[in-house]
Amino acid sequence: MSSFIASVRRLAGSLVQWIDADYSAEPPEVVRAQPDGVDFVRCIPFIILHLGCLGVLWVGWSWFAVAAAVVLYVVRMFAVTGIYHRYFSHKSYSTSRFGQFLLAVWGGTTVQRGALWWAYHHRHHHQHSDDPEDAHSPHVHGFWWSHIGWITSRRNFPTDYSKVKDLAKYPELVFLNRFDVLVPVLFATGLYFLGRFLGHAAPELHTSGAQLLIWGFFISTTALFHGTASINSFTHLWGKRRFQTTDDSRNSFLLAIICLGEGWHNNHHRYQSSTRSGFYWWEIDPTYYGLKLLSFTGLIWGFKEVPESIYHEAEQNAHRDTVRRFSVSSVQEEINTLKRVLPTAAAIAIATVNSPEVAAQMKKKDGPAIHKDVSELAQQPPATSERPADQA
Ligand SMILES: [Zn+2]
Ligand SMILES: [Zn+2]
Repeated sequence: MSSFIASVRRLAGSLVQWIDADYSAEPPEVVRAQPDGVDFVRCIPFIILHLGCLGVLWVGWSWFAVAAAVVLYVVRMFAVTGIYHRYFSHKSYSTSRFGQFLLAVWGGTTVQRGALWWAYHHRHHHQHSDDPEDAHSPHVHGFWWSHIGWITSRRNFPTDYSKVKDLAKYPELVFLNRFDVLVPVLFATGLYFLGRFLGHAAPELHTSGAQLLIWGFFISTTALFHGTASINSFTHLWGKRRFQTTDDSRNSFLLAIICLGEGWHNNHHRYQSSTRSGFYWWEIDPTYYGLKLLSFTGLIWGFKEVPESIYHEAEQNAHRDTVRRFSVSSVQEEINTLKRVLPTAAAIAIATVNSPEVAAQMKKKDGPAIHKDVSELAQQPPATSERPADQA
C-alpha cells in the first residue's frame, strides 16, 4: 500500500513538474542519487514535441513556413551555443544584469529548459567528461543514451543550484529556470498568432496559424534538439583530436556547421573559457561571428581570447603528429616493399633449386667430381697468348 501511495505521489510530482520544474516529491539530492530510469510521465511534453511534427500532414507547407523553420533553427541554435553554452555555462564574455535576463529569455525559446539547469549539467559534463559520472558520455552509456536517453532520466531533471551559485543569486534567472515552460508556451503561442495574422494580412504567403506553429515550433525545435544533442553524442566519437585532453572530445567540421561552431569540441574541452571554439580562421565558428556582431550593440563585451600557450601547444602537437605519421609511413613503405619482393625472391629461389641444370651443377660439387675436373684441367696445355707455330 505504501509503495502504491509512493507511486501516486511520484506520478503527481511528474505532472506538477510540467509547470514547476523545481517541484519534487522527494528531496532533489535523493532523486539525483537514484540510478538512471526513464520518467515517462515527465517526458510527455517532449514526446508531444516530436509527435507534433506529424502535424505537417494536415497543415502542408509554404515557402514562408519552411523559411521560418530554418531561420528559427539558426537563431535559436545561436541561443544554445552563444548564450546557454558560452555565457551561462562558461561565462566566456560579460553582459549587464538586464542583458543577462534578455539572454535567458532568448535561451528559453530553445525549449531546452532553463539556463541554470543547462549550465549545471554542462559544467558537470566538463568535470566528469567520459567518466562514469558523466550523464551523457557515449563511451560510458552508449550512443542513444548520450544523445537522447539521459534527458528522460528522473535523476537528471532537478537543477543542482549549488553548482551554479554565480547564476542562482539572481531571482529572475531562478524564476525562468523554475517555470521553464513559460517562455516556450509564449513563443509557440506568438508563432500561432503571427501565422493567423499573416494569413489575413499577407495571403500571398499562403501560411496560417497552424502551419507556422508546426513548422516554426514543432519541426524547428525538434531539429534544434537533435542538432544540439549531436554535440553530446557525436563529438565524443567522431573527428580529430588536436589536444590530448583527459576525455575523448573531438573536432568535427560537419558538426561545426550543424551546431554553429560547437563542432570544435576538442578545442573547447582543452580551453573552455575562450569565447571562440574555432581557434584558427579556417575553423568556421558562426557563434563567435554572431557574438561579435552582438557586441557592436553594446549588449555584451569582454570576450576571452585563446592564450598563446594553447596555440603553442597546438603547434607542438601538430609537429609531433607529422613526425609520427612520417615515421609510420616510412616503416610501412619498407614493409610493403618487402611484402612485394619476398614472394618473388622465394619463387625464383625454389625454381632455381629445382631446375635440372642446377641439379647437375650441384652434383658436380661432390668430392670425386671436383677431383676429376681438377685433374682434367691439369692435363690441358697452359693457356697462352702466343699462337702455336703450326697455326701461324
Ligand atoms: Zn564534451
Ligand atoms: Zn562547454
